[in-house]
Amino acid sequence: MAPQLLSSSNFKSLFDSVDTFLFDCDGVIWKGDTLIDGVSHTLDLLRSKGKNVVFVTNNSMKSRRQYAEKFQSLGLVSVTQDEIFSSSFAAAMYLKVNNFPKDKKVYVIGGEGVLEELQIAGFTGLGGPEDNEKKAQWKSNTLFEHDKSVGAVVVGLDPSINYYKLQYGTLCVRENPGCLFIATNRDAVGHMTDLQEWPGAGCMVSAMCGSTDREPIVVGKPATFMMDFLIQKFGTETSRMCMVGDRLDTDILFGQNAGCKTLLVLSGVTSESNLLDKGNKIEPDYYTSTVSDIIKLI
Ligand code: PLP
Ligand code: CA
Repeated sequence: MAPQLLSSSNFKSLFDSVDTFLFDCDGVIWKGDTLIDGVSHTLDLLRSKGKNVVFVTNNSMKSRRQYAEKFQSLGLVSVTQDEIFSSSFAAAMYLKVNNFPKDKKVYVIGGEGVLEELQIAGFTGLGGPEDNEKKAQWKSNTLFEHDKSVGAVVVGLDPSINYYKLQYGTLCVRENPGCLFIATNRDAVGHMTDLQEWPGAGCMVSAMCGSTDREPIVVGKPATFMMDFLIQKFGTETSRMCMVGDRLDTDILFGQNAGCKTLLVLSGVTSESNLLDKGNKIEPDYYTSTVSDIIKLI
């Protein structure tokens, strides 16, 4: 069915049939570091009506602890770390649920958030933002050395990605067919600031695909890993969840793949004309301008 504009006539059936609202973050809750108008009131209202609220972000730069700080600093003081699911956390949980051996190491092309989540989960991470050594200068008769105990490479957004890191990750994967290659997410671009998008983790993941000839295990949206985790945690049927997001090929697809209801908000990267374009194949159940429209409809 074509997406329905959220209205007072269709809102009640959506609201009554949902226990848990899953919110994407960038473009829904905030844009870069700027809170979207009305979000705080909307969340308070949903909680007061007995709904669970959960936050699912593909941005791997921060850990859950750091996201909790961001929510607090934006005035969303009711949000706790337990309600936040980031792709950095998902990468660490993927290793945990798949019994990744603790004596193996994880090489990270990505931000502090990934390293922190690995450490909390009891894994040894190498690399990360500071891994800037000028060792990738190739010299004849000199081998580039890497730690042979690396059993997984995790790639997320790394604003200081360089040739050294790519060589390190590539060697880990190419020289050990058993080495896992995990992508936090494959977003093409992300809102590094409220005004502008910058290249996202997708381009860094693709660089590694090119040099390794391997496809990654993706743990962020729209892959199902985080949803399986959420289902276990909240014990809610996905038919009683609503995924609220601004991007069709990550958020809406993530919700649809799991059988959730889906609500697209136009406060982020998707315009009404993108949504209604004949070429668009990913259609949410509902759409509206911003999450704060919920305030008027409750
Ligand atoms: N990745 C990066 C680097 C980003 O900056 C963003 C948004 O700012 C995202 C991914 C997407 O995040 P979300 O899933 O919260 O929209
Ligand atoms: Ca988003």
